[in-house]
Amino acid sequence: MLHRRAVIEAHPNLLKLYSARPGMPDTLAPFMRPLLHPNLVNGRSGDPALYVETLFEKRAILFDLGDITVLSPRKIQRLDHIFVSHAHMDHFAGFDQLLRLLVGREKTLRLYGPEGFISHVGHKLHGYIWNLAAGYPCDLIFIVTEIAASFETRAAQFRLKRAFAEEPGRSRRIADGVLYQEPSFRVCVSVLNHRIPCLGFAIEEAIHVNVWKTRLAELGLPVGAWLRELKRAVTENMPDEHPIRIATPGAARELPLATLRYAVTVTAGQKIGYVTDVADTAANRQSIIRLVQNADLLFIEAAFAEADAALAQERAHLTTAAAGQIARAAGVRRLEPFHFSPRYAGEDERMLNEVRAAFAGQCSG
Ligand SMILES: [Zn+2]
Repeated sequence: MLHRRAVIEAHPNLLKLYSARPGMPDTLAPFMRPLLHPNLVNGRSGDPALYVETLFEKRAILFDLGDITVLSPRKIQRLDHIFVSHAHMDHFAGFDQLLRLLVGREKTLRLYGPEGFISHVGHKLHGYIWNLAAGYPCDLIFIVTEIAASFETRAAQFRLKRAFAEEPGRSRRIADGVLYQEPSFRVCVSVLNHRIPCLGFAIEEAIHVNVWKTRLAELGLPVGAWLRELKRAVTENMPDEHPIRIATPGAARELPLATLRYAVTVTAGQKIGYVTDVADTAANRQSIIRLVQNADLLFIEAAFAEADAALAQERAHLTTAAAGQIARAAGVRRLEPFHFSPRYAGEDERMLNEVRAAFAGQCSG
């Protein structure tokens, strides 16, 4: 599969469009049909949890597993991948709710977290007694992967029918920060510093190749299965002379890809970043900027106000100003700050204004 970075490299015109910040050009906007729909489960101030609904196969992805009581059982059952930044309680306490709802259902769920995460999941599971589990009709399986700073990963499996005894899985080394990948999307990871390892994530849709039926008609061409080959040739950036076989009932012919490009438009998929609980260090800034470069949307913590930078430093969190500066440096298109500390209750506007000012490059006084 070809992803955003490769597409931007392969299609210089697209790069121009994406460089035209801050707004998406009108000519491109109507063609965008994002597959990923993110929502902060507990708003900007509650426990971190970002629910990402996908438009394919009614599946959902969760970033962080804080309090999820407001999620309906139906929404929780749709989850199949959960990415946890670290195991501080406000990011992981929702595991019990998840477990309570899923026991008794046939389900496999993949969880990802930093070094030590397998042990955290194991301890959660072994806080309960499962002596009756072998007789359950359905199995619940957690496949847990932990990622070390070296990008070595270790996996383990916990199955209800085996009373959640830990079964070792395979180890691997992830390449280019790509933690998980399938044809529709991929998730990249960065190991950041929160005085403990803490993971930042970016989810990227695969590119969209849109075929325009009106333009096909102008070329005198039918719709049909051959369009799959056309889309593949476009995504793989085949040369202009690459022949495409157009099979129609009773006839077949070939046209060069160059002729057919008229009938398609290519848009990079949406990229969404999720970063929380990180110290404001030069190394963290560099890693985050690399991870969320050119994201369409960035969810980033802004735990402390700018005036409380000393406190932010002490707790290894970002300030509003740092969040805005990082997003600006990364060329992010839209910013959604969250994880405001409870000390700023009722002051969302102040916090948002500080983030906005830094994002816009304004100096604060
Ligand atoms: Zn934390």
